[in-house]
Amino acid sequence: MSKLPARLLAHILPLVFNAHRKQRLSILIYHRVMPQLDPMRAGEPTVEEFDAQMRVLREYFHPLPLVEAVERLHAGTLPDAAVCVTFDDGYADNELHAMPILRKYAVPATVFVSTGFLNGGRMWNDSVIETVRTCPDEVLDLRELELDCYTLGSMQQRLQAVESILRRIKHFDPQDRLALANAIQERGRGLPDDLMMTDDQVRSLAQNGVGIGAHTVNHPILSSISAAAAREEIQQSRQYLENLVQSPVDVFAYPNGRPDLDYGIEHRDLVSELGFKVAVSTHWGVSTAHSDRYQLPRFTPWDRNPLKFTARLMAGYRNIDPLIAGLD
Ligand SMILES: [Zn+2]
Repeated sequence: MSKLPARLLAHILPLVFNAHRKQRLSILIYHRVMPQLDPMRAGEPTVEEFDAQMRVLREYFHPLPLVEAVERLHAGTLPDAAVCVTFDDGYADNELHAMPILRKYAVPATVFVSTGFLNGGRMWNDSVIETVRTCPDEVLDLRELELDCYTLGSMQQRLQAVESILRRIKHFDPQDRLALANAIQERGRGLPDDLMMTDDQVRSLAQNGVGIGAHTVNHPILSSISAAAAREEIQQSRQYLENLVQSPVDVFAYPNGRPDLDYGIEHRDLVSELGFKVAVSTHWGVSTAHSDRYQLPRFTPWDRNPLKFTARLMAGYRNIDPLIAGLD
């Protein structure tokens, strides 16, 4: 950032947005931090962009560990412009690329790990993306899997193929979806088996002060599985992580995370009953003291430009948690 915009930010934007930043908590959601811009992952920040975003948090906001922030929100002692950083799923780049930047700016963070993919696993959507990326042919014919025949002549066409396949199979039953992703991935070449963390990388995060949260074993949509299976998924991932890091895991993120769609009130009650302290969803907004600590909203500005990122994050404090908007 150049000097002038930084001064503008420091003096003008906080005045404009100040009234909205008191006793409100913005929880950012990330998945990956890419070594360089990847057209197949255009929504993910690069190392350089993530560095600029964490610098902004350190300079203009008040980054806090998740549980401490939620406790202070309910105690009425939250500092202005409070913000938490979270990552979902457990990608290896969280440890490789994000952790050094988090340390550099002393920004606390929590990584929610789906334990079934650790040590060489791959999530179904990544299998689709990497197959289309590495497919050596210019045509990917998936008609025998009841999908289409996709042209892969250009990067744009590969991107379109990924979007089309993901859109089609996203809502399939989890078993069918996995079977289909497995069949699709046979068309790829040398798919990466190091996208997700190893046990050692999870330990490394914990040893470097990053909070570890549970995110189920297999990343199922909780609403689509039985109550018993949901309990298993949550408990098993938590036990695995507690064993790994040798300390309590008391925060949880719902897979996909949309209230009423991806999880129900029964899952919220289950997470509370299991003794978690905080759970996060993916509905957009900022938390207030009225927010349900077992379904806190999250929001991340998508801007690549640090100034726009800052302005949108500041403006975001006006977007009250939609689950409690009527109360505030
Ligand atoms: Zn996830």
